[in-house]
Amino acid sequence: MDKNQSTQLLFELSHPGRRTHRLPACDVPLGDASTLLPADTLTSSPPPLPEVGEIDLVRHYVNLSTRNMAIDTNFYPLGSCTMKYNPKRHERLAALSGMASMHPLQSDASTQGVLELLWHMQNFLGEIAGLEAVSLQPAAGAQGELTALLVAAAYFKDRQETQRTRVLIPDSAHGTNPASAALAGFDAVTIKSNSRGLVDLEDLRAKLDERTAVFMITNPNTLGLFDDQIPTIAEMVHRHGALIYLDGANMNAILGITRPGDFGADMMHYNVHKTFTGPHGAGGPGSGPIAVRQMLAPYLPTPLVVKTANGFTLDYDRPKSIGRVHSFYGNVGILVRGYCYIRTLGPEGLRQVSEIAVLNANYILSKIKHAYEVPHGERCMHEFVASARTLRRERRISAMDIGKRLLDYGYHAPTVYFPLVVAEALMIEPTETESKETLDAFADTLLRIREEDATYLQQAPHTLPLSRPDEVKAAKEPILRWKP
Ligand SMILES: *Cc1c(COP(=O)(O)O)cnc(C)c1O
Repeated sequence: MDKNQSTQLLFELSHPGRRTHRLPACDVPLGDASTLLPADTLTSSPPPLPEVGEIDLVRHYVNLSTRNMAIDTNFYPLGSCTMKYNPKRHERLAALSGMASMHPLQSDASTQGVLELLWHMQNFLGEIAGLEAVSLQPAAGAQGELTALLVAAAYFKDRQETQRTRVLIPDSAHGTNPASAALAGFDAVTIKSNSRGLVDLEDLRAKLDERTAVFMITNPNTLGLFDDQIPTIAEMVHRHGALIYLDGANMNAILGITRPGDFGADMMHYNVHKTFTGPHGAGGPGSGPIAVRQMLAPYLPTPLVVKTANGFTLDYDRPKSIGRVHSFYGNVGILVRGYCYIRTLGPEGLRQVSEIAVLNANYILSKIKHAYEVPHGERCMHEFVASARTLRRERRISAMDIGKRLLDYGYHAPTVYFPLVVAEALMIEPTETESKETLDAFADTLLRIREEDATYLQQAPHTLPLSRPDEVKAAKEPILRWKP
């Protein structure tokens, strides 16, 4: 019997007549159901549900739950995603009934506590950004990008600069950047990276003109490098009357060390679920607040949380606003966790977060760079991008093979095949929450995999119930229900 067959046999647990409970026979007279309910809503036979005893049911779900890889079970060096540990205390605080049971239609008077928390969160995020105004509404980084670009479009329209139809984006950017530009009605124009992995200033100069609305930059960028040309870039972009957008997914590297507003950004998003520990993966929920300069504040989506003489309230009366991008208050549960994180650490603690995240990434980099090619790998910020291109050419071992093999050793795979500017990319981000022992064990595992047999690696993982599913088909035609 092959592995798939045995998994299937074990998977089908239903036996006719088995139950998790036995109730006494019903002694309430039901009458004739057909006279109580329309005939076409009645079925003649019970639904085909699995029939199992309680112990089998419990084992089934507990066993399934242990097949998830999660930050609470395994090291998760998924570059760009900042998979840091989410303290359990935050979960308890977010679950307090005043938070979790709040109804979105409650009056301001009965939600002063949550409104105050959100108001402080707006101020903290503005302070950390070095920008004046904050909207907590967007549900994720990608929606923050879209929201900020809609804000930029409204700003330029107000100034009658409607010829600004283009958004310039480096070729190392996350795919959401050009997607957001297109959704906001702009044309996305690619800017090349130079040999250092930074923005190619010549290409930027050539493409920057009066049609440019926004230059989107990720800094530190997706190669884990801080673009030290940013003052020059900001000066060039602003001289042309365009705005700088900072993709803040990599804020984990610079908290309390530098501020986007200080290095030239006019608007940015945060990924609260990355930088400030909201649990994430498998599609959310997330939270992607945006921070902008004062001149862009009138266009922010409604509502903003404001403080008045009578307490905190939601301000919908903003005539120039782009309108709503999310229902009610935004994703409050994630914002509460982020707030707890910021309050627990304070300014000094946040700075330490970044210092240790950068130290941890450089530590792994220094341990593996003799064995893995790291194209821009002298030093890195909070993550770095290795490449398996030589391994692939010489031994037919791909980034995918290495990622899959890591699963056998109990590690989540790094981000692979992103950023697109590095062939066979393996993007590694340890975050600050991992111990030296974990970093050592992970680096040793990467070195060990490097020495393993190519054919064995190409067939990895060897220890999991499924080896290599067709990922495209799994995404396009997901089979989410077991049918015997
Ligand atoms: C994660 C990420 C995004 C998108 O953020 P989401 O919160 O996943 O929508 C954008 N840019 C970069 C660089 C990212 O890593």
